[in-house]
Amino acid sequence: MKPINQTNRDFASLSPSVQRGSTVVFDSLADFVNRKHRQPDGFSYGVTGTPTARLLEDRIAALEGGRHCVITPSGAAALMTVVMGFVRGGDHLLMSAASYGALKTFGEKWLARMGVAVELYDPSIGAGIEALIRPGTRMICIEAPGTVTMEMSDVPAIADAARRHGVLTMMDNTWASPLGFKPLAHGVDFSVEAATKFFSGHSDVLMGAISMNDPEHYAVLRETQSILGQQVSPDDCFLVLRGLETLGLRLRAQSDATLRVAEWLQAQPQVERLLYPPLASDPGHARWKRDFTTNSCLFSMVLAPAPESAFSGFFDSLRHFAIGASWGGVHSLVAYYPAALQADRAYPATDRAVVRVSVGLEDVDVLKDDLRAGLAAYQQSR
Ligand SMILES: *Cc1c(COP(=O)(O)O)cnc(C)c1O
Repeated sequence: MKPINQTNRDFASLSPSVQRGSTVVFDSLADFVNRKHRQPDGFSYGVTGTPTARLLEDRIAALEGGRHCVITPSGAAALMTVVMGFVRGGDHLLMSAASYGALKTFGEKWLARMGVAVELYDPSIGAGIEALIRPGTRMICIEAPGTVTMEMSDVPAIADAARRHGVLTMMDNTWASPLGFKPLAHGVDFSVEAATKFFSGHSDVLMGAISMNDPEHYAVLRETQSILGQQVSPDDCFLVLRGLETLGLRLRAQSDATLRVAEWLQAQPQVERLLYPPLASDPGHARWKRDFTTNSCLFSMVLAPAPESAFSGFFDSLRHFAIGASWGGVHSLVAYYPAALQADRAYPATDRAVVRVSVGLEDVDVLKDDLRAGLAAYQQSR
């Protein structure tokens, strides 16, 4: 007997089934020979996903207000997949200087060597992007707010200029998630999420998602995803499907707590400046208020001048905030970005060291006490 798994029988559950399979089997030779015609949505080999992946893609597309979604093994992979799908040697690519680090490195170290003209633009740009568009411009990469220093771009203005010139746009929307901003509704072609962050929500899985409306774009990205071997484990899909069940609740709770923590921090004498568009003091506040409906859970801060060693005092005295990269999970995190990193960047928002804070689901008073102790230790080592 061929051991073929066909889900049937009288079984219904509230939980999605995890369907594994590298090989997909066919009923006949004719089916096998025509298997490629099942793409971009169907199943012909495990690399394009099993029904568990397709279920997750459908749910993410619905959240984004898009018709299609392609998931990838990480947020970074999602960014690279969009670019690899559409940008070729000889093209001009505009990229926010506040783009996710791996995307910028990919642009500057790989794409530039493949003959792509990569140009970084000021992340706080708006309609001024139009002056940077050339005849060969293929795509504009947007991230708002920007990674680490939280610059707000005028997304509708960029998307509008791009459309008028036939240029594709992709936006890394991880900070707001589609519950806080819907790039596709603002004219962006591709909405990219690091599902590693809010979608999964528990700091235990890496995944990315690209959502879009155009079926031809979808076919290109499904092919790119599979040609690059960007397969996602059905078990990881299950974890993200489970995370999505509480996404709205988590985002609301973390968004409320984050604003409270940020407002409290703003009043502390050791805090020189918060980089956080939901605060009225942030230069991106008006754009944030016009377009976004969440405070997210992530902001950065510049502390009062002190020797580099004072940061060890701050970080090492924290008892509730864990030190680590990534964000968006239920546990609060802090990360450190040294001054040199900002100084080396194009269009830097600051030339100082930056502390990035991700607020989880812990009690806000416990978090404030922890930060109070950290700032006291910082003050002592100044
Ligand atoms: C984390 C992150 C990514 C990359 O996601 P990974 O899953 O860690 O590869 C991309 N963009 C933003 C804004 C992120 O915060």
